Amino acid sequence: MNRWLFATNNQHKIEEAQSILQGFAEIISPNQIGIDIDVDETADSFKGNALLKALAFHKESGMPCFADDSGLCVDHLDGAPGIQSARYAQIEGQPVNHQANNQKLLLALQGVETRSAFFITVICAVGFTPEPVFFEGRVYGSIDLQPKGEKGFGYDPLFVPEGFDQTFAELGETVKNTLSHRSNALAEMKAFLQNLPHTNLLH
Ligand code: IMP
Repeated sequence: MNRWLFATNNQHKIEEAQSILQGFAEIISPNQIGIDIDVDETADSFKGNALLKALAFHKESGMPCFADDSGLCVDHLDGAPGIQSARYAQIEGQPVNHQANNQKLLLALQGVETRSAFFITVICAVGFTPEPVFFEGRVYGSIDLQPKGEKGFGYDPLFVPEGFDQTFAELGETVKNTLSHRSNALAEMKAFLQNLPHTNLLH
C-alpha cells in the first residue's frame, strides 16, 4: 500500500483524505511520524503556499507528501478574502476567529445583490514525480444574508452551494464531502496518481 504524508495538522482533513483515497493509499499525518513544523504561508497564491508546505514536509520526512491551501473567493470583492481567508478579520497576535471573519464578510456585502463566490483548494504533491504537481478543486455558490447552521467550520454558515438552498453548515459533512473544493482536488490527485505507472514503487 502507498504511504503518503499529508502536510496538515488538521485531523479532519486527514480523515477526509483517507476516506477519498481508501484502498489506494494510507494517509499519514505529521504527528504520526513525530514531525512538528510550522510553515509560514508567505506566498501570494494558493499554489505558492501549498508548494511551500509540501516541500518543507517532504524535506523533513523524505516521504511522498502533499499539502493543500484553501480559501473563499467572493466575486464582488475581486476574489477576497482569497489567500487571506483564515486571517480576514484577524487582529495582530490573536488566533483565527471564524465568527469575526463571517461578520466582516457580511459587512463587506451589505446591500450587495451579486453574492456569488467559490471555495478553492490547491493541492501540491511532492516526491511522486520529478517536479511538484498541482491539483485544483472548486465549489461554486453564494454568500447568504446571515449565518445559518451549526456544522462545519470557517465560512460554512454563510456559503450556499449551487443547486442547494441551505448553507454548508446546515447541510453537514456527508453532503459537503461530496461537493467540496477539497474533495474535488483530492479526487483530481487520485485520478492523476492512479495513472502513474510507478506510484507503487516509490517507497
Ligand atoms: P485552509 O488552507 O484549508 O486552512 O483554509 C484557510 C481558510 O479558508 C480557513 O481558515 C477558512 O476560513 C477558509 N476555508 C477553507 N476551506 C473551508 C471550508 O470548507 N469551509 C469553510 N471555510 C473554509
